[in-house]
Amino acid sequence: MGVGNKRTLTKTRRHTRDLDQIKADLLSPKHLDQFQKTKAKEDLPGLGKWYCVECAKYFESEVNMVFHKKGKPHKRRAKQLLEEPFTQKEAEAAVGIGLGTQQSTNTAGGEVVMAT
Ligand SMILES: [Zn+2]
Repeated sequence: MGVGNKRTLTKTRRHTRDLDQIKADLLSPKHLDQFQKTKAKEDLPGLGKWYCVECAKYFESEVNMVFHKKGKPHKRRAKQLLEEPFTQKEAEAAVGIGLGTQQSTNTAGGEVVMAT
């Protein structure tokens, strides 16, 4: 139950943004803009020109970025971002709530994970 997930999560959290932040970036360019303003363009690879929003990552060239977007880590990330339900649920699963006894009674958000 999302255990293998947890390791990657903590790992990526160290050098990139949280998924929920990225989600906000995708929904609101303003949010993304605010984040990018905190960085000095000169310090970024490719002067911050090539940025993958989904992965919160900068690239040195367009080629690098295009290559990255075809890659597995990016696709995995894009998929994670599409799958909404990993906020409260994930947290509850981590502390052992909702294991087994509760059947997927999804009320919030209209996201049904275990749909038939
Ligand atoms: Zn990416």
